[in-house]
Amino acid sequence: MHAQRSPRPADPLDLVELDTLLTPDERAVRDSVRTFCDRRVDPHIAEWFERGEIEDIRGLTKELGELGLLGMHLEGYGCAGMSAVDYGLACLELEATDSGLRSLVSVQGSLAMFAIHAFGSEQQKEEWLPALAAGTAIGCFGLTEPDSGSDPGSMRTGARRDGDDWVLDGRKMWITNGSVADVAVVWARTDDGIRGFVVPTDTPGFSAPAIKHKMSLRASVTSELVLDSVRLPGTAVLPEVRGLKGPLSCLNEARYGIAWGAMGAARSSFRAALAYAGDRVQFGRPISSFQLTQGKLTDMALELAKGTLLACHLGRIKDDRGLRPEQVSYGKLNNTRAALEICRTARTVLGANGISLEYPVIRHANNLESILTYEGTVEMHTLMIGQALTGQAAFR
Ligand SMILES: Cc1cc2nc3c(=O)[nH]c(=O)nc-3n(C[C@H](O)[C@H](O)[C@H](O)COP(=O)(O)OP(=O)(O)OC[C@H]3O[C@@H](n4cnc5c(N)ncnc54)[C@H](O)[C@@H]3O)c2cc1C
Repeated sequence: MHAQRSPRPADPLDLVELDTLLTPDERAVRDSVRTFCDRRVDPHIAEWFERGEIEDIRGLTKELGELGLLGMHLEGYGCAGMSAVDYGLACLELEATDSGLRSLVSVQGSLAMFAIHAFGSEQQKEEWLPALAAGTAIGCFGLTEPDSGSDPGSMRTGARRDGDDWVLDGRKMWITNGSVADVAVVWARTDDGIRGFVVPTDTPGFSAPAIKHKMSLRASVTSELVLDSVRLPGTAVLPEVRGLKGPLSCLNEARYGIAWGAMGAARSSFRAALAYAGDRVQFGRPISSFQLTQGKLTDMALELAKGTLLACHLGRIKDDRGLRPEQVSYGKLNNTRAALEICRTARTVLGANGISLEYPVIRHANNLESILTYEGTVEMHTLMIGQALTGQAAFR
């Protein structure tokens, strides 16, 4: 016998009407990114993930630039000057398509462009920001090294003065956009502490071999950066920052976007699970009518709404007065963990189909394994919040 049917609300994906927290302009931004993703990327994303490449990444980046999504929360130099909430909503929609797409936009805007915007010379800004905003150039951000991940202060890549020039030697690892980038922001050890360098990728001695065999973020370029006596003019250094606060402040920008983005991957998986549960019949009933399935759907709905509320709250604070690092950690840690749990639960609702690329769920779940680790691991964000709570740093 079928369980009794009752009317459902207009949007079961938004039972608590989170939409009402957004202004009409914010909803318009969200809708335009959603429309673009639906048309331009969604039909192809499973195939790109399977092939391990984004088709025509340069063309796609230009289209993202035309939409104003690259460095969209920065002012001037061709950037759209939108709010933090607008940027977050864009991240959510991009990541509802794929974490690789959101990573392309985050690394370009929040890491490469933000570093040049916040710490660059006027010449560096004029040279790179308009092209990066338009998507006619692609940027990457090289901090992590083979032996230096959570502890970037241990980096070995070095820059030394030679007359007026700088000479860079070293290796960076796991660098998003690396092989397709026109410009790399590279962090290196100098006699004067850690400094950032703006490195055109056609400089002799620079190469960026792609990292293969990834089982996560397959629709994203991930590369090694090899710096073999890369000679740069004295003007290549970012003049306005010294020390780790440079790269860490860029990471805080990107982590904020991840807090929103992860909820996009979660929403997509929840939507797929809800639809599948309604269609799939076992024991003569849709599996959505079983209490255990409803328990899973309810838990997913609760965590999705809580995570989205948190992201929106953090966005409002960021627009009003800026976020403290532990507040960013709070959003990144909670929402990546919650999103992965939602995707894993959604996968169980889909049964065997849950492991197929015919559905978005396993792709999102696999992607979120990277999102859990990059821009600060779960453990590091736990310890940063622990430090804020106790005043004691447990990670050193
Ligand atoms: C797909 C992808 C894209 C990436 N893109 C970029 C990029 O564009 N630019 C860039 O610079 N980097 C990038 N990264 C690198 C990423 O930021 C690092 O992987 C991350 O910072 C973790 O460093 P690690 O992998 O070396 O792990 P490790 O630092 O070696 O950590 C290994 C484990 O030890 C734990 N651990 C380490 N120290 C402590 C401690 N003190 N207390 C408790 N636990 C600890 C970690 O939490 C983790 O669980 C990317 C990574 C991936 C997977």
